[in-house]
Amino acid sequence: MKWMKNLKDYVPPSFVVERDDYRCIRCKACVEQCSFDATFYDEEEDKVWNWNANCVGCNRCVAICPTEAIVVRRAEPSYRYNHNWNGHIDSLKKRAMFGGTPVVSMGNDRPYPIYWDHLLLNASQVTNPSIDPLREPMELKTFLGRKPRALELTDSGLKTKITPQLELEVPIMFAAMSYGALSYNVIEALGRAAKEVGTYYNSGEGGLNKDHYKFKGNIIVQVASGRFGVHKDYLDVGSAIEIKIGQGAKPGIGGHLPGEKVSETISETRMMPKGSDAISPAPHHDVYSIEDLRQLIYALKEATEYKKPVAVKIAAVHNVAAIASGIARAGADIIVLDGFKGGTGAAPQVIRDNVGLPIELALAVVDERLRQEGIRQDVSIVIGGGVRNSMDVVKAIALGADAVYIGTAALIAIGCTMCQQCHTGRCAWGISTQDPHLGKRVNPEIASKRLINLLEVWALEIKETMGAMGINSIESLRGNRLNLRGVGLTEKELEILGVLPAGE
Ligand code: SF4
Ligand code: SF4
Repeated sequence: MKWMKNLKDYVPPSFVVERDDYRCIRCKACVEQCSFDATFYDEEEDKVWNWNANCVGCNRCVAICPTEAIVVRRAEPSYRYNHNWNGHIDSLKKRAMFGGTPVVSMGNDRPYPIYWDHLLLNASQVTNPSIDPLREPMELKTFLGRKPRALELTDSGLKTKITPQLELEVPIMFAAMSYGALSYNVIEALGRAAKEVGTYYNSGEGGLNKDHYKFKGNIIVQVASGRFGVHKDYLDVGSAIEIKIGQGAKPGIGGHLPGEKVSETISETRMMPKGSDAISPAPHHDVYSIEDLRQLIYALKEATEYKKPVAVKIAAVHNVAAIASGIARAGADIIVLDGFKGGTGAAPQVIRDNVGLPIELALAVVDERLRQEGIRQDVSIVIGGGVRNSMDVVKAIALGADAVYIGTAALIAIGCTMCQQCHTGRCAWGISTQDPHLGKRVNPEIASKRLINLLEVWALEIKETMGAMGINSIESLRGNRLNLRGVGLTEKELEILGVLPAGE
């Protein structure tokens, strides 16, 4: 019996489910909907019970209960308080019990500084008056790709050859999240929303289900070290190709899709056996230097007849500025920087929580370095990994980004409650699962509408804020750090961010 556990293995539950027995009408909706077996119905007693140890705090039962009979509370650890060891006791026990390193999902949840919250925006007063976006045009259109250093014109028009660009109606795209990590319906929703809004979603490293070729024109396809699902048609469907070298949530290691999530269709899409773990190696086996990366960039350009921009995605790490400079010189059209708060479907906890850099600092140093070297126009900068709201977008663009990727924020818009159980494949909200029954919990029509709402509201908020600054185009905001001031930051942090302290 599952409750007859060896006491030495006891780990206190993280959550406590409280059910008001008077309000409960025994409809068993919570029993049927809980994908973690945290609740069960006892026929003899005609009562619904909880198995708190299994509760992950996804709150599906709370949302589904028709009589509001359930409350889920975070459980206080029952161990004696110890500043040094609290939080480490369970972690040590789990390693000792299972003999393996814990795999976790979503982003780094440790209390590192969030620099977005230490940056304040400017507003116009009297001179350079503010602009009302309801009455005057505001331009959010963004082009990603290499820009010419100068334009040459002839009598008949433009002589300068413009390299392929991605055209975005809003400077926000959906980050790389693979089919496999996410359910079919979520990918469908991302594709529909990207098409409707005029932006892009990223296939991630899992290939592309043929059903989703219909989103051609709004897809960025990824080429990662595992090369899952990479073939000529796949490259042709993408509007841009993104080489994934690293990911913010797990810099320095490869990707991992647990075998439980490799269903029949995932195995077809990824071109790999059903049920086996999809592990992409840490390095690309043909990239050990910037010269090798250059060869891969040009191989992909050649394969797609130089019709698509090629992006290179790296995790934000200590020497990110020098790496970005090398990537720009290797011929990439777009550099994607992924901060350590970025989400993941599965990563070793030690890596997720201890490796990488905050995206704000990485962005500031990369933009500065590329400007100093006079190569900033050769490459666009896209950032991701911890963009939570429209003001993070505005601050990112003022710090030097051309556009941002959102992943976790998009999943939350669809219904994710950040329970961090994506790696189990049992997502109660039908988002990060390949279980066909769970996957049906996402209605792609409703989910895409919610994503569209999110992007439209963010676009409106960005326009309002730009208007308040007296700026009417995203181009004028880009890299305009004079519109930022820092609060509660050290002199060194201000120097790295390239912003003045509030009051100056
Ligand atoms: S969903 Fe609510 S009413 Fe239905 S069995 Fe669970 S607690 Fe009772
Ligand atoms: S996607 Fe699902 S499993 Fe992952 S954190 Fe969100 S609700 Fe939890």
